[in-house]
Formats: sequence, C-alpha cells, structure tokens
Amino acid sequence: MEQHRTVTATGGLCAKCGACTVACPVFQVTGREYHGGRGKLHLLARLDPHTASATYAEILSRCLLCGACEAVCPRGLKITDEIARARAQLSRRAGEHNFLRFLTRQALAHPGLAKGLGTLLRLAEKLPAESGLRLRLNLPAADAVTAKAPPTPGPVDPATPLLYFAGCFATHLQPEIALATASLCRKAGQPTPVAARGQGCCGLAAYAAGDLDTAKKLACRNLEAFAGSEAPILVSCASCLSHLTSYPALLADEPEWRDQAIAFVARLREFSTLLLAGLADQTTDRAPQPPASRQRVLYHDPCHLRFRLKITEAPRTLLGRFPQLQLVELPHGPQCCGHGGLFHLAHPTLSAEIRDRLLADFAATGAETVTTTCTGCLLQWQQGLAMTEHPSRVMHLALLLDTLLP
Ligand code: SF4
Ligand code: SF4
Repeated sequence: MEQHRTVTATGGLCAKCGACTVACPVFQVTGREYHGGRGKLHLLARLDPHTASATYAEILSRCLLCGACEAVCPRGLKITDEIARARAQLSRRAGEHNFLRFLTRQALAHPGLAKGLGTLLRLAEKLPAESGLRLRLNLPAADAVTAKAPPTPGPVDPATPLLYFAGCFATHLQPEIALATASLCRKAGQPTPVAARGQGCCGLAAYAAGDLDTAKKLACRNLEAFAGSEAPILVSCASCLSHLTSYPALLADEPEWRDQAIAFVARLREFSTLLLAGLADQTTDRAPQPPASRQRVLYHDPCHLRFRLKITEAPRTLLGRFPQLQLVELPHGPQCCGHGGLFHLAHPTLSAEIRDRLLADFAATGAETVTTTCTGCLLQWQQGLAMTEHPSRVMHLALLLDTLLP
C-alpha cells in the first residue's frame, strides 16, 4: 500500500483525485499524466532530483508554474513549490544552471522559434547588464536605448505617499507602461507613484530556472530599494507582483531578511485594485452608449493573478466603468496563454499549442482589443495575433485606460 501513497516533501498527502491534472494547461494539450500536478508529485515522491536523469529534468521543465493545479487541489498542496524546489536541486547537482542550460538549448535548437526568439532577443538587448532576465537569456551587455525614457527613479523618502515597482518590461522595454501608469494615477486622484531607485528584476525568471541563489539576491536588492518607507508600492506587472509576494517564503531561511520581506509584501498594491479605489465611475456622468459603438475588449487573466493572488474581478470592474468599452469573455472561460516565462523558449511547440487553443476561443469573441497586466502574456498575445494576422490589438491595461481618460 505504501508504494501507492504520494507524500510531498513537506508531508502533504495527495488524494489522487486528479483535479490538478484536468486543470493543467500542459496536460490539456499532451494528455500525459506525468505532465499534470499529480503526475509530477508522484515522480517527485519517488525520484531524488540530485541523481535523476535528463528525462526527469525534461518532465520537470514542462511546467509553466501557473498555479492552476494548486488552485483546485482539495488538499492545498503546494505543487509549484515542490517543482521549483526540485529544479533547484537539479541545478545544484550540475554545479551550475543545468535547468537553464536545458531551456536555452531547447530554445536555440528549435527552428520554428526563430522569429519569436529574434523578437524577444531584440527586446532583451535593451535590458541592462544586471537584469535577471538578461542573465537568464545569457545575453551580452548592450547599451540600452528605449523609445521613451521611463520615469526617473527617486530616493525613497518617508514622505512619498506612493512608490512604484515597474519590473524589467516597463522599465527597459516598454516605458510607456510606466508613464501611462503614472498618468492614470494622477487622473484617478492617486499620488504620482515614484519608482524607487535601486530596484531591479523581481527574480521570477531565476526562481523558475531553479537558481534560488540569484532569486534571493534579487529579492534582497528590492527589499533594500524600498526600505526606509511604509508607503504602499504599486506594481503594474501581474507576474512581478505574484513573485514579489513570495519573498517571505523565498527568504524564510534568512532571518535577517524574513521580517522585512513580510512588511514589504503588506505594502504591495495590485494595479487595477489601486486604481479602482480612486477612479470615479465614468459611466455615471455620461449617456449610455449603444453596444455597436463600443470597443469590444477582452480582459486576459494572467495565471499568476488569477490563481495565486485570486484577483479577477477588479480589472473587469475597472474596465466596466468606461462607457466606451464593452467587456467580452471567452466562451469557455479564462485560459492560460502558454507563455510561462522561459517555458515558451524551452517548449515552443507546447507553448504554441496552449496559445492556439486560447486564440481559437478568442476568435469567437469578436474583440478588437485584448488587455492584461502581465508582460509575458502581452508578448504571447502579440506574437500569436501577429502570426495569425489577426487584426486585434494587444495593450497593457494602463495604456488602454490612459487613452480613454481625459
Ligand atoms: S503549475 Fe500549471 S503547468 Fe505546472 S503542473 Fe501545475 S497546472 Fe500544470
Ligand atoms: S488535486 Fe491535489 S490531491 Fe488531487 S491529485 Fe492533484 S495534488 Fe493530489
């Protein structure tokens, strides 16, 4: 009987109900039991990552760390933590970033990826040398020139009422998001957010690759950057926000940082939730518009926001306050886009299959615009719609709403 039990590293007991398997976007396209949460836990309980084979590492890599499995697990098992921990052990066995090497090799060996990878690398060329994302892609240092300068970071002054964590994308690749976020805050009666000087990559890419040492260093750097204030911290990227909230767990074994991490997380504010608090209902002082004249908009739920932070209503409520917009939904409900950070580089075919299921549903909505707050999702949507020559546009929520508010 013992061999049929699956006990996690932290002592949790899997009920083998299969709820996580059905919810897993990777399982949904491969149909392989070992790609779902239950299957991975089964392997983790039986094989030591320190001595396991390349096949085992490959199976572990087939996970977006999306959290869909955890959200439905009746036992509350921390499946993504188990997978991330095992990835870190694989890295340690090799003495360097084994898992990352695997990701990079897969990405570069796949001929069909050239266009998307080229786009990503061109974008990533703008990342500064210290960016965790640059390190994860093994890119050389390059002089960054952006179309627009991001807001100038400032020192953390205890009197500053609102601070800003921009993340790599809004800082270096599309500073328009940071500028629109600041503009929207002003229009919504919120203080202008100040980007704290010294902040950097949130560390999600390092964490997903099993490089916990780098993930911890990046976390500590951000804690230092935002120290000296108790002001709330606005985060405009859903994936960054999700990872920032994991700092206490990441630093649980670092007593000098743990309490600081807990206090830091209490100050984090999700983009749409913060704006909703200050933004008046734009529909109340305007005549209702007929549906035909409204812009049809799909809000895409980033998995990190939906499953980890359980924020799904605030963005929709926010969009619903704009009479120019008609919010539409996918016929089968929200779905993963298949990006998963480095997952789409390591497994381009799988990533595209997950994305194409989403795009097939999207076609039925008739939406002219897709909006979201996760930068990985934005890239995935942009690439998918471009490849299918779909005319819809993709915009970060800040950019969309800033164009609508006077
Ligand atoms: S985190 Fe997502 S991709 Fe990974 S096993 Fe769970 S549901 Fe599947
Ligand atoms: S949902 Fe939870 S209890 Fe059920 S099979 Fe998956 S991990 Fe096990």
